[in-house]
Amino acid sequence: MNACDPASHAVAGVSGLKPYEPGKPISELEREYGVSDVLKLASNENPLGVSPAARAAMAGQLDDLWLYPDGGGFDLRRALAARHGVEPACITLGNGSNDVLVLLAETFLAPGRSAVFSQYAFAVYPIATHATGAEARIVPALSQDARQPLGHDLDAMAAAVDDDTRLVFVANPNNPTGTWVGADALRRFLADVPADVVVVVDEAYFEYAQAMGVPDASAWLGEFPNLVVSRTFSKAYGLAGIRVGYTVSSPAIADLLNRVRQPFNVNSLALAGAEAALGDTAFIDRAVRENAAGMAQLRKGLLALGASAAPSAGNFLLVDLGRDAATVNEALLRLGVIVRPVANYGLPGHLRITVGTAPQNDRLLAALTQVLETT
Ligand SMILES: *Cc1c(COP(=O)(O)O)cnc(C)c1O
Repeated sequence: MNACDPASHAVAGVSGLKPYEPGKPISELEREYGVSDVLKLASNENPLGVSPAARAAMAGQLDDLWLYPDGGGFDLRRALAARHGVEPACITLGNGSNDVLVLLAETFLAPGRSAVFSQYAFAVYPIATHATGAEARIVPALSQDARQPLGHDLDAMAAAVDDDTRLVFVANPNNPTGTWVGADALRRFLADVPADVVVVVDEAYFEYAQAMGVPDASAWLGEFPNLVVSRTFSKAYGLAGIRVGYTVSSPAIADLLNRVRQPFNVNSLALAGAEAALGDTAFIDRAVRENAAGMAQLRKGLLALGASAAPSAGNFLLVDLGRDAATVNEALLRLGVIVRPVANYGLPGHLRITVGTAPQNDRLLAALTQVLETT
């Protein structure tokens, strides 16, 4: 072994991986750019913050942190099972839904197998797939002028499934495009895909998306035993920092995921916070309402700037600047505003902007106006 080149000994899928690029943390911008009062609209976090109920529940856990968490996540799984009308055996908890996506890849993928997903789909799918040595079969997205611009082409995705395919990822809605698929199209797709191929419907933005008519695929688990639905507490529930996500699936699939799951993958604060957040429906209702208003505000302001944004069922907009977005992004950073460049998705002329509170959206629009006039 060449001591200076561990990459030559890494498994092939890993040595070829490009790491996930997260939104820039506020502290990093402060450190690197010497700015303060930073506005971050880069990671689709909930601008309303943490639900008071979740905060209190987590505070109540502090004295017990010397104990290992409940590795089975009994209370949270029971609450989630009740929410979805399934048995607790159908719920698999993850350290964020990123964790359950990786568990799915570890369980069903290997060299010689493939996962199917769309061009412009969530960046975790290629990473989770490649890390297993499986092939990522990336299906060209719908065109820019489709009704769901750059969205998933479900017919083409179904056609890309072959004998080697074990996993299909459908993000509904998708990040970064904001696009979604309706109930009829998704059910047709599920009926088209062979019953031994696991279809993961990633509903990270479900609470926001519901209002746009995006279906709750977890209602179809009885009909499609190969269906897995993933959800997260990172977005509308306002708990991105504690890392909780989960899947709803058949007990048979959950049993497999549980074999590769780390025994204590969800910590005590997260278990308590997520369960309390689940019960805080007033907080979610407010988040959804304010997101709709904020998205309209952003959209109107962007239109006035000549920047277009496609429809979105999430809490973010994919904004087409019609010019190189990297320079615009850099100038926004200098003004203390963090948004998300998406060149890594193959979209160098776009920025993904999270919907903020009304004052945050005003500040973003003012900064963007200034930047577009001067750079
Ligand atoms: C944000 C996001 C997730 C998950 O995030 P976690 O914080 O790991 O739960 C999953 N899928 C999509 C499409 C997302 O945008």
